Amino acid sequence: MKYQAPRGVKDLLPPESETFRLLEEEISALFALSGFREVRLPIFESAALFSRSIGESTDIVEKEMYLFEGKGGERLALRPEGTASLLRAAIEHRLAEPGRTTRLSYQGPMFRHERPQAGRLRQFHQAGAEILGTNDPDTDADLIAMVSRYAEKTRIPGSTLLINSMGCEACRPAYRTRLVAYLEDHKNTLCETCLRRTATNPLRVLDCKVEGCQAVLEAAPPLTEFLCASSRDHFDSVCRGLADQSIPYTLSHRLVRGLDYYTETAFEWVSDALGSQSTWAAGGRYNGLVSSLGGPDIPGVGLAIGIERLHLLREKAATLPLPTDPPVMIALHPLDEASRGYIHRILSSLREENISAVGLFGQSRLKKAFVSAEREKARYIGLAGEDERESNTLTIKDLATGVQKTVPAFPAASLADLLRTGWGAES
Ligand SMILES: [Zn+2]
Ligand SMILES: [Zn+2]
Repeated sequence: MKYQAPRGVKDLLPPESETFRLLEEEISALFALSGFREVRLPIFESAALFSRSIGESTDIVEKEMYLFEGKGGERLALRPEGTASLLRAAIEHRLAEPGRTTRLSYQGPMFRHERPQAGRLRQFHQAGAEILGTNDPDTDADLIAMVSRYAEKTRIPGSTLLINSMGCEACRPAYRTRLVAYLEDHKNTLCETCLRRTATNPLRVLDCKVEGCQAVLEAAPPLTEFLCASSRDHFDSVCRGLADQSIPYTLSHRLVRGLDYYTETAFEWVSDALGSQSTWAAGGRYNGLVSSLGGPDIPGVGLAIGIERLHLLREKAATLPLPTDPPVMIALHPLDEASRGYIHRILSSLREENISAVGLFGQSRLKKAFVSAEREKARYIGLAGEDERESNTLTIKDLATGVQKTVPAFPAASLADLLRTGWGAES
């Protein structure tokens, strides 16, 4: 029996797993600088949480969720996104209360049963940041600025910020009616999905990527022309807030996020370096979501960054964070049986000094030990036999320069310093 990873999921192997971790740490630091504090969320939740928040007639809930039954018969789902879980946690633990602003972030794998294609995995990673408790448009502008500045600083290629307003409960119904009328007038040119969505979730029709639908959808009436005074005001203020900070943006009347819960501001960062899967970060305001999940009536705004796509873009930009330390600083080899204990002592004392060290115990021949040390990508090999044991020393060879030295093994702090600074080609 040969086992393989399931279709659509990917093992993250070194060194990619290492840059991935650095990237995640970088995003955590970015969020922390803007006052977000991390919540570790469960990987699965009650399925109803997602159908309630994301919307029954969305692709995610209709066909992409991984559903399973708990031992007690409860319907559970692997989380397809993070916002619903985060809000559930915020409500449950009373982190979201009227009259106060709470900034929370999360990070981790999400699961969607999508057709596997380039840049799309069934287990993918997202980092998200949510601000609960304020409807102030400058909050939206500030949140957007955090990611736009980051994109600028890390030179993400071809990145554009798209923004739109989704309106509110007061103005969206009139627009929806108008849009449905327009779509029905053009139903002969629309694809099957568009026709189905015209009935179930007409705003999502604007999102269709099918070639034949583009001309009709481009010419569809824009939601921004139907905004009520307060939605108009909110949207104008967000745009002004971005302009004040010299953050470039493009208005996109067809930007409707794929999830039902968005209200007012919707935004997305796309990159032409990504091909058809062009969105690498996205978010929006969701003023009714907390209360619809049983929490207090408080507004919220948030965003999520797709880590796989970010990784790809940073790779293209040659700005991926790379591990600076060698994976292993030193590989230690006992030259005889009696030196094994001595090698153990040096290994643990070096690790105490934060030096990465491995023991080459499986190799009886010196030549093989050198091959193993190279394979470990160690910077040095350290050898100890009877002489070293008796004089409390270690023979070290710098594998890059070939220079060899016998040095005191203790105190370990001095040995660690020597390994860190190295001694180059001299001596
Ligand atoms: Zn409105
Ligand atoms: Zn279509």
